[in-house]
Amino acid sequence: MSNYPIIKLRRGKEESLLRFHPWVFSGAIESMDNKIEEGDTVKVVSHDGNPLGVGHYQIGSIAVRMLSSSLDEIDTDFYAKRLAEAFELRRGALNLCREDNNAYRLIHGEGDFLPGLIVDIYGDTAVMQAHSPGMHYAREIIARSLVDLDGAGIKNVYYKSETTLPYKASLDPQNDYIIGGYHDNVAMENGLKFYVDWLKGQKTGFFVDQRDNRALLRKYAHGRKVLNMFCYTGGFSIYALSGGAELVHSVDSSAKAVALTDANVKLNFGDSANHKAIAEDAFKYLGDMPNGYYDLVILDPPAFAKHRGAIHNALRGYQRLNAKAMEKMPSGSLLFTFSCSQAVSKEQFRLAVFSAAAQTGRRVRILHQLTQPPDHPVNIYHPEGEYLKGLILYIE
Ligand code: SAH
Repeated sequence: MSNYPIIKLRRGKEESLLRFHPWVFSGAIESMDNKIEEGDTVKVVSHDGNPLGVGHYQIGSIAVRMLSSSLDEIDTDFYAKRLAEAFELRRGALNLCREDNNAYRLIHGEGDFLPGLIVDIYGDTAVMQAHSPGMHYAREIIARSLVDLDGAGIKNVYYKSETTLPYKASLDPQNDYIIGGYHDNVAMENGLKFYVDWLKGQKTGFFVDQRDNRALLRKYAHGRKVLNMFCYTGGFSIYALSGGAELVHSVDSSAKAVALTDANVKLNFGDSANHKAIAEDAFKYLGDMPNGYYDLVILDPPAFAKHRGAIHNALRGYQRLNAKAMEKMPSGSLLFTFSCSQAVSKEQFRLAVFSAAAQTGRRVRILHQLTQPPDHPVNIYHPEGEYLKGLILYIE
């Protein structure tokens, strides 16, 4: 039985927790034990003192991220059990742990009932990000549980939370290995190879969330002239080439990303691929490119809205970007367009793309509506976890 300090909610504020939403907002709190510090594990009770579960306390508008709706002890066994359940889903139903596929997301925060924690697996290395002080304090226990995870073959755990923890918490986390060290950094995705640079790359080093959408692209790429805009590690480019594209041009404003894309093309196809990577700003490239040249374009920009206040500008950005691509695409071409802004809804994104279509006067049909893959599950009680949206459009 857990003996954690207590946070008591205001009357009626237990309702969202009883509906399994995993957050307690600060405005819902009536009182809390005065010894509670940021990152502590706390017990949450209703106004009448009924226990509602345990979670990590944090200063800010989301005050508690719930770990369990019963009064579990949050110890090694707890994390080991959650990790084992998450791994079983990936290995079993999702069949993501195969000889030709060893890159996948093992823990997707609330979607795996571990709010504040992200773990991506690349072969025998786990890259772990804490988004809450509670998970930061638990990092050693979690790292050991990852290595002990039966059948997962994890030998190295790299902790990468310098930019993900709340700045005000002054935790000063260092990006470093908790267990093991750097060695093989080639990951396999659907039989294709990728260098993953978790030390210097963005996020955990690779965007596993586009796996299924890249696989879909492979089916459409045959004989096409492909522009992969915002290419980063070249994920879409490699799939397009493996699907028989006539040529692929990869564009990113970061010279490092362009070099990584070139390296990944070489890793899979040697020097024989009809591919070119270009370091250039997206709007400049789209403005300068010839009319009617690319008949398959991928637009996968970084999140334009990092918070709610930025939504309006983000939507205008999506509209401008999509219009710039659409107006130059020949009849019969395909546009793969994405938004990874969590604050922008599926409907809002679609409206921005609709506005781009209307602005350019093209005939546009939606062929597919895309989202994040199943190793990024959305807890149905926490719809905020759905962040990636995409459309495949047929442009005439
Ligand atoms: N499509 C990639 C992920 C894209 S991440 C994948 O499948 O892995 C977003 C990328 O956009 C980053 O690599 C970043 O360097 C690049 N970027 C950001 N702003 C840009 C701009 N204005 N023009 C071109 N690239 C940009």
